[in-house]
Amino acid sequence: MKPIERITPVLYEKYVKEELHRLEELKNPKIIYVTDLVGCSHKYYLRRLYPELTIKFEPSAILGNLVHAGIEALLKEKGFEVEVEVSAEVEVNGDKYSVKGRVDALKKDEGLVVEVKTARYAQDIPREHHLNQLKIYLEMLNLENGLIIYITPDKIHEFQIKRDRINLESLVKTLVEDTAHPRYEWECNYCMFKKLCPYAVERSD
Ligand code: SF4
Repeated sequence: MKPIERITPVLYEKYVKEELHRLEELKNPKIIYVTDLVGCSHKYYLRRLYPELTIKFEPSAILGNLVHAGIEALLKEKGFEVEVEVSAEVEVNGDKYSVKGRVDALKKDEGLVVEVKTARYAQDIPREHHLNQLKIYLEMLNLENGLIIYITPDKIHEFQIKRDRINLESLVKTLVEDTAHPRYEWECNYCMFKKLCPYAVERSD
């Protein structure tokens, strides 16, 4: 049977072209994503120099995006707002930065923010950087309740969290002064900049 490519280009169009649109934004040092604040600070520096390296067309990423789209469609039927853009202006060392993010789902009348995560396995969940991401969203939205749902091949887990004290300025300062590289040693193994990075940590896991 001859292979044909009919669906794959549709997926490519949806996911890669969206990333291409973001390239200019990635080069802007005054735009900080919430995900930047929970990971390695040197990635924020390298993504401005080599933004094209952030584009991936990997089956696992596509699977994750499709799971998100499916859950968000269900939550929308249940009265949630989905894919909600959030932003905050933060001043550090006299410079202004725009912190931006997008929450998966939100129910304002319940003060509830939902994050959807997919993973290959359920070990170590909930992961610290995911919790921190959700806490930052709660802070930015001035809401009290967070919920993370993990979908893995073997398990579905939900974790409830409450708003915690988050100092956005100090997180942005860590990033712009590049003082957390990496924030977690495991990050380097999954980092697109590893081969160019002077701080890369070698680990065997
Ligand atoms: S290789 Fe490690 S230290 Fe370097 S940017 Fe990536 S995560 Fe950060």
